Amino acid sequence: MPFLLPSTSRPYPQYSPAVSDFAQTVKQQADIVKIVETYIRLRKSGAQNYSGLCPFHKEKSPSFSVHAVRQFYHCFGCQASGDVFSFVAKIENVTFPEAVRIVAQKCDIPLPKREFSSPEEAAGARLRAKLLELHETATAWFEEQLRGPEGALAREYLAGRGLTPEGIKTFRIGYAPDSFNALRDRLRSMADEETLRPSGLFASKEQGDGSQGPIYDRFRKRVMFPIANESGRVIAFTARTLESGEKAGAKYINSPETPLYSKSMVLFNLDKAKTAIRQAEFALLVEGQMDCISVFLRGIQNVIATSGTAFTEQQVAILKRHTSQVVVNFDPDAAGANAAEKSIALLTEEGFNIKIVTLDGGLDPDRFIRERGVEAYTAALRGARRQADYLIERARQMFPGASPEGKTKAMNYLLPHIRRLPDKLARDEFARDAAQKLGIDSALLREELRQAALRRRDRIEARPTSLTEVERVLLRALAITDPEEEQARRLAAAALAQQPAWFEHLATFAALQALAGRQAADPMDAVEDPAQRALLAQALLAETKPPGESEVLSAIQEIQERALEVRQRDLRALIAEAERRGDFAELALLTQQKLELDRALRQLQTHRDPN
Ligand SMILES: [Zn+2]
Repeated sequence: MPFLLPSTSRPYPQYSPAVSDFAQTVKQQADIVKIVETYIRLRKSGAQNYSGLCPFHKEKSPSFSVHAVRQFYHCFGCQASGDVFSFVAKIENVTFPEAVRIVAQKCDIPLPKREFSSPEEAAGARLRAKLLELHETATAWFEEQLRGPEGALAREYLAGRGLTPEGIKTFRIGYAPDSFNALRDRLRSMADEETLRPSGLFASKEQGDGSQGPIYDRFRKRVMFPIANESGRVIAFTARTLESGEKAGAKYINSPETPLYSKSMVLFNLDKAKTAIRQAEFALLVEGQMDCISVFLRGIQNVIATSGTAFTEQQVAILKRHTSQVVVNFDPDAAGANAAEKSIALLTEEGFNIKIVTLDGGLDPDRFIRERGVEAYTAALRGARRQADYLIERARQMFPGASPEGKTKAMNYLLPHIRRLPDKLARDEFARDAAQKLGIDSALLREELRQAALRRRDRIEARPTSLTEVERVLLRALAITDPEEEQARRLAAAALAQQPAWFEHLATFAALQALAGRQAADPMDAVEDPAQRALLAQALLAETKPPGESEVLSAIQEIQERALEVRQRDLRALIAEAERRGDFAELALLTQQKLELDRALRQLQTHRDPN
């Protein structure tokens, strides 16, 4: 049974012993490389490690590493690090016990009866599980209603939009009948009102006393499009009205934010599209869910939708796990162009390679593909324009004419887009193209373009200090977990305990101390400070095998030497100071100390180099 540190030093809440036993079992069987690879792309980058683009911060070149033997991950960019559970907890935004369950499921390890650290946590997990169940039942029930007599009008609407029964089945499209209580009555046997309320499937009116009144069906006389999470489970709905005129209300309404669903975190159709996105090495981004469904059902499966809004940062981060290339095909109207522009800006900052499609005849993707066929649509995708070309064209349309004012406005529109590009060459090219196509001959405007290309509006990534060879040896020795290598670890720990002053000046002093006194089985768990963890990770990621006793001994000796040299320098300064003051008693004392120190140093050096 491995030791556990007190709860304050754990990156996640303390968990009960039964779960911790199970977590240990799962951790032993799970391969962090395989688990991480289900979320992001990794490349082998060393004997024992893999690297890829960090899912937790914005970056263009990989600084995220996974150590296959030690089973931890570490990002040199944002300092995120931990084990397989903390990775899953962070990326899925779930608690530790849920992360354990997810990893267990991915490894086909049967789950024990669940136990949680706190009643609130247990209640939260129970509620989410129940809400998933309710959404599943509701989805099946809406599908049933669509097939029934009440669904005739909805079926007609869907057929009119070119949807076949197979397509309807694939997307599990359904119908919510014109009733305030039909769904409530269907779900009542599964859950009490306090559970139905937060599902988002129902609404209620505030009473005179401020309390909420009885619940009633939120979606009525609407076509129901389920929204799934990345694992394909339904977590919310988009509902389109079948009414017209004043009675209709909003054309589309969505589930509100619930414990299951957060609009800014979901990309519509990613569950079905992710395999195709990885194969095609790009994602096709459309605005509306109908566009997405229509394109997908005609065989272009790497398509996702933003659900009518501009991209959010979280959505970009989610997409980044699957690809870094996007073809954007938004509606050609003004709103669509604005949404496209915002999405382009965000994607550019994240280092995406972007192309833009504008379809002939002002058609949206759904109508275009229905009217002209999939070949014409594929051809349009192939003809997608580079981001720079698209934006320059748009600048020319918005500010037409050859007047100096027009050119200045067009250029001011383009400058932020140019500055946003992470790549210097791409900025240069964009600026040159813009100058040429806009016919900019003013030296002043050219200079502004040149400046925009020169510097990116950038954030500076903190890089950890580099390690000395000695520190590397000591960190690796103190991180030893194999009992057979224990002697090397003991040597380092003893030196640190007996002569802490020798080690004080090292950048890794805190990490060394934490490791020497560690009780956790996993060395990465022992070091809490992110900067110190980064240094440890750096040492461990470079490791091939742990250092032997002789390597540790010579490292300790070198540390001792360096500590003595530091002391020597201090003494020299103190001696000079005492001389200046004329303090001869002090001077004598210091000189004596320095002589002893010099002797000790010489001895050490002869010992090391017998020649
Ligand atoms: Zn990172």
